[in-house]
Amino acid sequence: MPIRVLPPEVAARIAAGEVVERPASVVKELVENALDAGASRIIIEVAAGGLDSIRVSDDGSGIEAAELEAAFQRHATSKLADDADLDKVLTLGFRGEALPSIAAVAEVEMVSRPAASDSAAKLRLAPEAPPEISTCGAPVGTSVTVRCLFARLPARRKFLRSVASETNAVAAVVSHYALAYPEVRFTLTIDGRPALQTPGSGDPRDALVDVYGAETAAAMLEVRNQGTASDILVDGLVGPPHVSRAGRQYISLFVNRRWVQNRRLAFAVEDAYQGLLMTARHPIAVLHLRVPPEQVDVNVHPTKAQVRFRDEGAVFGAIQRAVRAALLADAPVRAASPAAPALVLSAQPAPLLWEHGVRVAAAAVTAPDAVSPGPNGGPQAVPATPSQALPVLRVIGQMGGTYIIAEGPEGMYLIDQHAAHERVLYERFWGQRQERAPEVQGLLEPLSLELSPRQRTLIAEQAEPLAAHGFEIEPFGQGACVLRALPRSLVGGDVRHAVVEFLDLMFEEGEGDRRDRVAMSLACHAAVRAGKTLSVDEMRELRRTPAHMGGRR
Ligand code: ADP
Ligand code: MG
Repeated sequence: MPIRVLPPEVAARIAAGEVVERPASVVKELVENALDAGASRIIIEVAAGGLDSIRVSDDGSGIEAAELEAAFQRHATSKLADDADLDKVLTLGFRGEALPSIAAVAEVEMVSRPAASDSAAKLRLAPEAPPEISTCGAPVGTSVTVRCLFARLPARRKFLRSVASETNAVAAVVSHYALAYPEVRFTLTIDGRPALQTPGSGDPRDALVDVYGAETAAAMLEVRNQGTASDILVDGLVGPPHVSRAGRQYISLFVNRRWVQNRRLAFAVEDAYQGLLMTARHPIAVLHLRVPPEQVDVNVHPTKAQVRFRDEGAVFGAIQRAVRAALLADAPVRAASPAAPALVLSAQPAPLLWEHGVRVAAAAVTAPDAVSPGPNGGPQAVPATPSQALPVLRVIGQMGGTYIIAEGPEGMYLIDQHAAHERVLYERFWGQRQERAPEVQGLLEPLSLELSPRQRTLIAEQAEPLAAHGFEIEPFGQGACVLRALPRSLVGGDVRHAVVEFLDLMFEEGEGDRRDRVAMSLACHAAVRAGKTLSVDEMRELRRTPAHMGGRR
């Protein structure tokens, strides 16, 4: 379809607003254009968080030389023919606003060559300068370079975060598109260093390796629209309950292959994990929803990050059921998971003990909020807050390698040993972080870690916070890193996952509560796992003088 300016009545129906808020918005729009052009390879290069330069190159359809300038006119698009098309949009772009919006706040150079042409055309646009057009040699496809973003808008620049934050936002955009389009080869380089490289094999698991690491990718469970009779299809990959994360941003949802941010739908995913994850832990999910285009309105938000469904309840239900089915199919292996004490208890009700007022003491910040109450006010959870204190307890024994049984003033207590240990460790990590005095344990034999290019880049960038927590990690040859020292409390814990999650947390935005989540995450990976038999002395230590329990398993 040729590029043409939308008739005013169509343009008037388009959700207006700021398209370019930060470098990541430019990357998002350019990547969407490349995908709409049918690219099979997309290269994204950013310098200084995208503020110095952003380049997105694709091998897609290209643009005719004669249409290059038209592409930068407001509401000029090749993707919508008339008003009716707006009600069933299938392309990522449709309103012809991205290129003109970018050109209004930056210097732009576009080089494009359609397959039928032997040469490319180059268009240079700078604010307050006449456009320059020339002919040049270039491969088939389009490459857009954006320089000096917001250079003339100091007020706008002031609202941006640090270069590292902007870089992370760019990487997040590219990661999401890489997950959603596994058939496309994505390459992201940050200041000349490779940060992400997907193979473009078409297998979503392959793309996931580069974004979340090989181990996570291998553990993911397949979701296939089980049990839905509606015309809403859900498929993708979700993490099993033991592969959880400390943040919610690992739930990626795509509606007709468009990345959307929708709290309610993310909640549908979390809802499916009910009883399977500890509080403050969130699942990893990459889910595609196929919804008939006339049932979803993508024209409600300027950056198209939000969409409106004709029947959101149906979409919610479809997601919840599909994810739950995938989890249940995997469930038998983990029937006695420490993450699900409520399930363990209800599976083996003990009415006699309930009559004597059993209480379940979940003494950890990451323990379940509540355990389903039994009849007559049976088992109850003591609210799990960091400040909560337990009464003096006499340890009686251990049950199922998971709970410590103790006697207290109000009856019997069941203490989730992992949760209790975690609580103790959390306070220690938090304290050491505040005092900037990590207890470090050097490793005689360094531990080698397989990390994705993105994770290796983060290690270089996050050297300071890593060291502040007691990690000493160095790159080692191609594709690997070695861990030479680690926080002492983590010795014997799940070191590998602790490092990976630490990097993920550093990747997040927001300083304040991130520190808290780092401490929680380290504590979780350092804590005694369920299934470990404890001696009575060890249990007493855990209950009374927890500070001496560090790192034991
Ligand atoms: P929209 O994507 O909403 O149509 P844009 O301003 O992003 O609006 O782009 C305007 C037009 O420029 C597109 O409709 C398309 O025809 C053309 N275009 C932009 N980027 C590319 C690209 N990478 N490859 C081919 N055509 C492109
Ligand atoms: Mg576009």
